Amino acid sequence: MERLRESRIKLFCSKLWLPQSNSSTAETNDLNVQFVGTFSTSPGRHHVVIDSVQIVLEHLFGPESPRCPIDRELISREKSFRDKCCEREVLNLQCFCRYKEKGCEWKGEFRHLKAHEESCQYGDVQCQACGDTMERRHLKRHRENDCINRAVACTYCGGEVRQSNMKDHLEVCFKFPISCILNCGKEDIPRDMMEEHVTTQCPKAEHLCPFSDHGCDFKGTAENLDHHIKRSIESHLHMMNLSSHECNKKNKEMEEKVSWLEKEKTALENQLQNQTEELAAARQNIQNTANKNCHC
Ligand SMILES: [Zn+2]
Ligand SMILES: [Zn+2]
Ligand SMILES: [Zn+2]
Ligand SMILES: [Zn+2]
Ligand SMILES: [Zn+2]
Repeated sequence: MERLRESRIKLFCSKLWLPQSNSSTAETNDLNVQFVGTFSTSPGRHHVVIDSVQIVLEHLFGPESPRCPIDRELISREKSFRDKCCEREVLNLQCFCRYKEKGCEWKGEFRHLKAHEESCQYGDVQCQACGDTMERRHLKRHRENDCINRAVACTYCGGEVRQSNMKDHLEVCFKFPISCILNCGKEDIPRDMMEEHVTTQCPKAEHLCPFSDHGCDFKGTAENLDHHIKRSIESHLHMMNLSSHECNKKNKEMEEKVSWLEKEKTALENQLQNQTEELAAARQNIQNTANKNCHC
């Protein structure tokens, strides 16, 4: 019985672990932690070994009944018992990481396997930003270079933008270079400089005639405006003449108004002066009467 058990351990271990056998038959990729600790000693009887992370029996006998890896028999709770002695033996065994064939060189006691797998660089992890799954060793590079949701600096404004939003950002980025909105042919104008270009430099922009204050309503590009001014000397003079007449008329009206206001002012001042004098006389009067009453 003891011998059988030992040979079974070796048999089982030869499929999974290194030292007792040559490892040419290692099936590390098929390693299923739930089954690792389960093995058969004799038909119909199964030892259950719980690994160091305490996979509980309920977990082992979850919705899908596990099968013994040796005889493929369905394992039930009733036909199983926990064999602490074997458990210790198994936990002490040396094993490889399940990702040995991918390149992981980890080797250690089975009891430490779980802890290793939690940080194994060949194990799969999910990127929290985009949800993609990859080997842990690729995560850093993915986050920095490939992740569609990684934050990157906009080449134009320097702001931090999610890679997946970059296209939308460039539609509004205020430093993004665009072509003149009036199609003058100038390119690479930062979006926030367009207004300045259009108002001060763009040859396609239209400007008011400098004689617009005198009544000219011409509007045109710098070139057309030049022509217009050269062509319209006479009419501009006429406009200026009219507007200066208008101006003179207004001046005259203003002068009349001012002189009327000045007259009005003098009259009001005189009126004020008279009233002040009357008031002083009245005061004196009251004073005199008071004095007279007192001496009586
Ligand atoms: Zn590993
Ligand atoms: Zn990602
Ligand atoms: Zn930007
Ligand atoms: Zn332009
Ligand atoms: Zn004009």
